[in-house]
Amino acid sequence: MKILTHNLGFPRIGAQRELKKGLETFWKGQIDAEQLQAAACNIRTGNWQLQQKAGIDLIPVGDFSLYDHMLDMTALLGAIPRRFGHTGDNVSLDLYFAMARGTVDQPAMEMTKWFNTNYHYIVPEFEHDTRFHLASDRLFQEIKETKALGVNAKAVLVGPLTYLYLGKEITPDFQRLDLLPRLLPVYQEILQKIAALGVEWVQIDEPILALDLEQPWLDGFTNTYHALHDRGCRLLLTTYFSTVDHHLALLKNLPVDGLHIDVSSAPEQIESFLTWDCSGKTLSLGCIDGRNIWRADLSQKLETLSQAVSRFTGNVWIAPSCSLLHCPVDLSLETRLDPEISNWLAFSIQKLEEIAILGCGLNQGKESIWERLAASDQASQSRKTSCRIHNPVVHHRISHLTEHDSQRAHSFAIRKQQQQQRFNLPLLPTTTIGSFPQTDTIRQARAAFKKNELSHLEYLTAMRKEICEIIRKQEEIGLDVLVHGEPERNDMVEYFGEQLWGYAFTENGWVQSYGSRCVKPPILYGDVYRPEAMTVEWIKYAQNQAGKPVKGMLTGPVTMLFWSFIRDDQPRSVTALQLALAIRDEVTDLEKAGIGMIQIDEPAFREGLPLRKQDWKSYLDWAVKAFRVASSGARDETQIHTHMCYSEFHDILPAIAELDADVITIETSRSRMELLDAFVKFSYPNEIGPGVYDIHSPRVPDTSEMLELLKKASRHIDPKLLWVNPDCGLKTRNWPETRTALQKMVDCAKILRRSLQT
Ligand code: GLN
Ligand code: ZN
Repeated sequence: MKILTHNLGFPRIGAQRELKKGLETFWKGQIDAEQLQAAACNIRTGNWQLQQKAGIDLIPVGDFSLYDHMLDMTALLGAIPRRFGHTGDNVSLDLYFAMARGTVDQPAMEMTKWFNTNYHYIVPEFEHDTRFHLASDRLFQEIKETKALGVNAKAVLVGPLTYLYLGKEITPDFQRLDLLPRLLPVYQEILQKIAALGVEWVQIDEPILALDLEQPWLDGFTNTYHALHDRGCRLLLTTYFSTVDHHLALLKNLPVDGLHIDVSSAPEQIESFLTWDCSGKTLSLGCIDGRNIWRADLSQKLETLSQAVSRFTGNVWIAPSCSLLHCPVDLSLETRLDPEISNWLAFSIQKLEEIAILGCGLNQGKESIWERLAASDQASQSRKTSCRIHNPVVHHRISHLTEHDSQRAHSFAIRKQQQQQRFNLPLLPTTTIGSFPQTDTIRQARAAFKKNELSHLEYLTAMRKEICEIIRKQEEIGLDVLVHGEPERNDMVEYFGEQLWGYAFTENGWVQSYGSRCVKPPILYGDVYRPEAMTVEWIKYAQNQAGKPVKGMLTGPVTMLFWSFIRDDQPRSVTALQLALAIRDEVTDLEKAGIGMIQIDEPAFREGLPLRKQDWKSYLDWAVKAFRVASSGARDETQIHTHMCYSEFHDILPAIAELDADVITIETSRSRMELLDAFVKFSYPNEIGPGVYDIHSPRVPDTSEMLELLKKASRHIDPKLLWVNPDCGLKTRNWPETRTALQKMVDCAKILRRSLQT
């Protein structure tokens, strides 16, 4: 039986971010809907052709999206939240974008992270009487497009359980799983329509199977797949991001035609599934990492796959582990990467070529691909031994770390006294999170310097002028603890990555974050080493201009790790420690330069949390350790701050406390300070600054509003531990808004300070 190759999903943004450009010009009214649809159709067509050319047998259709694939399901299933007032049948483009981005009178639907990736999906909203009906023919149109192009297509759908699970109830007294019986008939109808269009296979994504699921959800799987069975097409139940072998018994009994498992992130699960007695069924092995940019060791993959094929009684297919949505498009567009490094990498197109090569090797024997195997062997060998990657100095330091290195000299209580003596801050000290508005002048100066149009001295002078002004403005506003404003930073990870050994940068390595927003994570390929101080000159300059303490600003090791493409040749915990050592040295240098407060930002602290609770502890242990190694070299009288935002923190408070930062500033706008209750319940031991205003909105909050929040905070938390600050950095705001908002914030602090002191 021929081993088929297939793909689970292709990046939608286009190799040169064509979709971003299309969407943004459409939203500005510069092109019309028809032009946008034409641009989208071009991208899809191009993507299908690239996949054909790479040699993939079965190519996904339905994976493309103008904004988000969960939102597409909401449109397809007609689950439009009532608040958008939709009465008609089909969802229009306007309605689609209204749900994604909001309108003048309706906020957008909520957005949240897709499992443990950096992609954000639009969260379905359910009410007890939500009804479903087929309300979009997008999928069917796209299937017709593939037929016209002669593409051998497999349709892709988010499965009903995952769709419901990832949504949320917005009215009380019902559970979204109760909606399943109403949802299934629409899925049946969709499958019948797909079959009528001549598509044989449907990839039905149920990634929630990688989570711990409660019994009612597990029962839901049995009911669902009995209901969807035999609707004219074959179902490939698709899982990814982690093992699903905790649901083995359930999976083996579901009436589906095939199962896709991720054997890249969870290679050990292959054993459980090989013994599945299922002649006639298909086991799809996701053997190439769809979430990272490393070239695969093809000889080793071929070996494992050959064994699997010889032992499995059904059909084997091979594919990337998950959709390539999380990977940039094409390595061949990178012209500036060092050839040695580039030889270790594979982006989406190269990954599909790897799949095709493996397919060839399995079907026609190893000899048929010997040249490709030799090239892959050479690349893996080079990666194992290159002195660009392996730095003995770093290894030596890591192996000599002791308990002592992740422990401040004294407890928080003692440190607090010393810090109070040193800084003599008022009750409820006011501060900000680090960045100030990135004005055009700042951006232009940075860009000109990058292009060598500004000399080093000119750039330095321009930035110093900015810093001077930022300090002056903060003093006018009356803030107690100042920042230098981060004008020299384009991005909080890239800025440090560029100064560390072990990092490489791409020109086009874009990955969709949400809608038209893309990120370009740097590539962390080697041992991390800090050749010299990274921030000291800027902070020292700022401190010299200021009569009040200026916080040094660093990005923490965990955030550096998760906002980069990370090494797969050593445990993440080791890479995190290497980053921690680099930050630790920077802390020491800042201290030596007389800086008394240092903030180590960790907005991505929760990002690495494993999908299953049983694995949380080991992650949190090493993540906490990395932060502590980064911060514990500081003397007692040096105040260590950290900052976190835009994640769920409720369930990891003990780990946050274990970071033992002297002060944490934390975003609370999303939960209107509900987070505070959690901090109180847990009795968070150190100082805390819950954000009193949302920096994502241009709206300047009223003094009374902020005062209300602050009063609430002071009722919950000992005012001696309380700080006053916005939710996050201010770089996306403009100066007039920022000045007014901060002025009001400082006024509130003063009012409350007075009332607490009398
Ligand atoms: N210090 C950074 C800033 O103010 C923190 C950014 C963040 O939390 N993402 O911009
Ligand atoms: Zn933040």
